[in-house]
Amino acid sequence: MTTMNWILRRRSRAIELQTLLVLLTLTISVFSTGAVLVHTQDEFHEATKDLKPGDEITLANGTWRDFEIVFEGQGTEDQPITLSAETKGEVIISGRSNLRIAGEYLIVKGLVFKDGHSPTNTVVSFRRTKGQLANHSRITEIVINRFNNPERHETDFWVMMYGKHNRFDHNFLAGKSNKGVTMAVRLDSPESQENYHQIDHNYFGNRPVLGSNGGETLRIGTSKYSLSDSFTRVEHNYFERCNGEVEIVSSKSGGNTFNGNVFFESQGTLTLRHGNGNTIENNVFFGNGIAHTGGIRVINKRQTVRNNFLYGLRGFRFGGALVIMNGVPNSPINRYHQVEDSVIENNTIINSAYIELAAGADEERSAPPISSTFSKNLIHNSQNPVQITVHDDISGVTFSENIINISVDPAIQYGFKAASPRTTVTRHENGLIYPTHGLEDIGVSRDFNVLQRDETGPDWYPKPNTVVPFDSGESIPLSPGENILATAIEQAKDGSVFLLADGDYLVPQTLVIDKTLTIRGEKQGGAFIRFERNSLFEITDGGLLRLDNLSISGDVSPDMAGNSLIRTSRRSMLSNYRLIIENTTVQNLDTNHSFNVLSIAKHTFADTIEISNSSFENITGSILQLNPEIDDLGIYNAEYVTISNSKFRNVGGSVANLYRGGTDESTFGPHFVLMDSTLENVGLGKRNKSQASIRLHGVQDASIVNNSLTSSAPIHVSETVGDPVTSVSNNKLVDTPDHKVVPFVRTP
Ligand code: CA
Repeated sequence: MTTMNWILRRRSRAIELQTLLVLLTLTISVFSTGAVLVHTQDEFHEATKDLKPGDEITLANGTWRDFEIVFEGQGTEDQPITLSAETKGEVIISGRSNLRIAGEYLIVKGLVFKDGHSPTNTVVSFRRTKGQLANHSRITEIVINRFNNPERHETDFWVMMYGKHNRFDHNFLAGKSNKGVTMAVRLDSPESQENYHQIDHNYFGNRPVLGSNGGETLRIGTSKYSLSDSFTRVEHNYFERCNGEVEIVSSKSGGNTFNGNVFFESQGTLTLRHGNGNTIENNVFFGNGIAHTGGIRVINKRQTVRNNFLYGLRGFRFGGALVIMNGVPNSPINRYHQVEDSVIENNTIINSAYIELAAGADEERSAPPISSTFSKNLIHNSQNPVQITVHDDISGVTFSENIINISVDPAIQYGFKAASPRTTVTRHENGLIYPTHGLEDIGVSRDFNVLQRDETGPDWYPKPNTVVPFDSGESIPLSPGENILATAIEQAKDGSVFLLADGDYLVPQTLVIDKTLTIRGEKQGGAFIRFERNSLFEITDGGLLRLDNLSISGDVSPDMAGNSLIRTSRRSMLSNYRLIIENTTVQNLDTNHSFNVLSIAKHTFADTIEISNSSFENITGSILQLNPEIDDLGIYNAEYVTISNSKFRNVGGSVANLYRGGTDESTFGPHFVLMDSTLENVGLGKRNKSQASIRLHGVQDASIVNNSLTSSAPIHVSETVGDPVTSVSNNKLVDTPDHKVVPFVRTP
């Protein structure tokens, strides 16, 4: 029977019954004992007043706006109480909405949360109030898609598990881009400890870089209750590009199992941060060579890391493929407990960059791992060898029967056998890599079953690609004329490319970019753009902009202070944007003071800003003004800023002013590169508060090399936090003060 037929039949049956059972109100349709189809919030409240075991409440198809669902009742194991959708995927919960469940043996399934956000701090909660929890209950096949608080740094959570013996399975959670962990298991009362929850077959989709702490995807427990056991099983979940911050999953309680999950191109690690007796087995980490992709980080006692496959992970320091930490002697509950009685065996680590042993050793973290074993692991790199770094006395770990294809640190050499030069590896049908011959009991098991993406989430809800790449859509030729660009942009599809014929383009309004667009001149410099508003472009949520082969002038822009060629939305943005400027000339942004190339608002975030082969001349403001987050909360505005092969002449402000304040260490960026570029008379405008041609504060990775600076303000870099890497070298300075780099000194 087709779905439509089924719905029609069911509807007609409901109508027949309505006619028969006159005692019932006309608006509530009953189609079997205790089964009620509700069409309005009032009907829902009426129907759920006094739920009995076996009751089934069904929400009618359609959009339910501003619906705070409370579902409470005492079901039984044989007769649970169910809340479901008339048709899975066709019941949309939008606006200011959320769901709380409380009681015993409840089931909720098939709802879609989108186009809205929770008015409280949680979208889906396994409790009604602090004292009314859910137990033995299940939430399955629900979708939470970009259901974000509109304020990027307003904290909320999508799923909070309380109580005991609950299951969260086959759900779709993607696109969380405001602050706050996507899903958390809470242990803050005895009623929620030793909970035996099951979190399985969920699709945890893209979580973009947050640019601050609070971007974890899953957390189990908190440091305060971390010596309690949770016994939560996290099994067969797919984590795709969960890049929020350094921790993808943070286990902060005991007795948890992470089994059979896939971490696909996700930046960060699965961290056993607090709590003892956890097991990580049969998981796959596919980093595929992407920066900051990490594996497993181990802290505490009685941890088991077995039969995991880790591939192409580029993360370093605490974000490496495998990191075993040093502890703090008699550690307070929120610091680092020593690694003890732990087992690391039969893992396969291929083409990954870093393995860190006794990581974080310093005056405070002075207790190295003890009474632990590291055996039968296969470590193999086909190109750059993995770096295994031993940071402290590692004699408390027994190494045995490990196979590796490079030589290792003398301290652990005894436990490694160099693979014979003829040992090669091959990919098996399951997608994993094994030694071509022999070594049967080394590395992950031969019968390893790798979870597929389509085994997770509701099967009726598509898993989209989240960002439409540049130049992926159609090419649209444009000729000069009035208002040409505004109309074209409005009508264009995501990924489109405008090809501008030679000639003058006068733009009378600000062009709003809310999709992926490339604007490209047919011949270099032939398309000449001028603009009459205080900004030519405004990037808003969903916008990615690439400018190529253009010539742009600000000479007809208004005579007002603070214009910009490009600005972000003036409000908080949830989507991360990208901006590329290449082969382009920008000049005469000088109708008044403080005319910037890019001006951004607080609580906006760029994944990448790239400038290459371009020139900028006669500009009263700055090129990239990236410093509005002045609260020093570890929040910043751009992950990768790269400038190469470009010329900057007569610029009053700085080429880049990139600021990341605070002492938090939960993020990887910002990253900054300036190379092969020339600066002449840059940074000397009297309104340039930074008094620098390049001003970097709190940048984690900075490279300023092979540039030439003439008659310009100095380069000024302040390292402030983390493990910053700064390289300022091979720059030619003429009539320009020497650069100033203030290094970070860690205080124990
Ligand atoms: Ca964190």
